[in-house]
Amino acid sequence: MKLVTSKNPDLFIFLALLFQFIVFILRVSASLIWNNYALLIESFHIAIDISITVLVLISLKISRSNLRNRYSYGLYKMEDLISLFIAIIVAYSAFDIIRTSFIHPPTGDLQSSIIQIISLIPLFLAGRMKILSGNLLNSPSLKSDGLHTYTDVYEGLGVAVGLFLNYITNNVIFYYAAITIAALTLFYTSYEIGKDSIISLLDLPKDKSVLKKINELVRENKNIRGIKSTKVRWAGPVIFAEVVLVVNPKLTIEEAHLIADEVEDNVYKKMPEIKDIVIHLEPSIEGMRKVAIPLMDEKINEKFSRASNYMLYQIDINGQIKKEKLSVSSAISEKRNAQRIQRILVDNLVTDVIVLKIGEIANALLREKGIRIWKAQNYSPDENIELFLKGELKEVPPD
Ligand SMILES: [Zn+2]
Repeated sequence: MKLVTSKNPDLFIFLALLFQFIVFILRVSASLIWNNYALLIESFHIAIDISITVLVLISLKISRSNLRNRYSYGLYKMEDLISLFIAIIVAYSAFDIIRTSFIHPPTGDLQSSIIQIISLIPLFLAGRMKILSGNLLNSPSLKSDGLHTYTDVYEGLGVAVGLFLNYITNNVIFYYAAITIAALTLFYTSYEIGKDSIISLLDLPKDKSVLKKINELVRENKNIRGIKSTKVRWAGPVIFAEVVLVVNPKLTIEEAHLIADEVEDNVYKKMPEIKDIVIHLEPSIEGMRKVAIPLMDEKINEKFSRASNYMLYQIDINGQIKKEKLSVSSAISEKRNAQRIQRILVDNLVTDVIVLKIGEIANALLREKGIRIWKAQNYSPDENIELFLKGELKEVPPD
């Protein structure tokens, strides 16, 4: 088919709607002409399905346009509210049609069953179009809408067979069987739409496997030390996720941002139903860290290697800090001072230093021993330790 090769998802959706509309016209005309209640229920069903497809289409359009960022979580929820209304109307109407169908005498005509069979062709095509465009747009909501239409084809076949058997055997039991099949699927559709929208409106987890899948994708990133929490909220056909991750506290802000971006990209790529994922990073205090800060009186000394006092902060696994002052004697040359401080820091198991400035030699010597160097934001040692723990200090680049 030429249309298939053109790969235009919008065209497929348009065709899906057109085919569904043809199904509706066929069924509603037949039900009115031959006064067939089974077909009336069936036309009602397809009318509901058309409105659901339109809703899916609207939210897809919005989430793919530049309205995307302005169209908030709350607005997507509107869709759930509309779905809930539809579900209630469907249930009430199904009940009403069934009640009426038992009051009126059954009709055993051949034409209704033929029209019903014919309507299955555009119905199947509508399902096919939805699946095709769902695949092209990578939209799970469109794909599941298409699968629903496929189920409707089987159900519609059941109704047609019931009507046909009623005609050839002249046994009304088949007519009522056809009505029951049509009514039950309509009730089921109403239940499914209603359940999903209520769950979404109440912010309950619609599908726990989504949570598991997000966590799995996050763990693929080797820089993630742990997942503190994952929250998922459904709104219409889209999902909003929020993840709190624990990362190495020694990461620079840029590094942390890169990791967050990597995680986001991975989730967006593999889970197209996620509309928005917010990632919060928390530094982990893994094992023991020891931070040295050069002192001048109680403030940070601008001359790192030449300081005679250093404050050592020992940070344990629970984030408890133990302070200890270290006094050293000064040497003569810069190189000597740098070597001396390197040895002292290594002896004292220091893992990080926070400095205002650092000389070229000291920078290289500390790096050689795997000690990380962080840029102080002000003269207060304690404030900088706090910033360090929050992961807000930037790393000093190598000279
Ligand atoms: Zn349906």
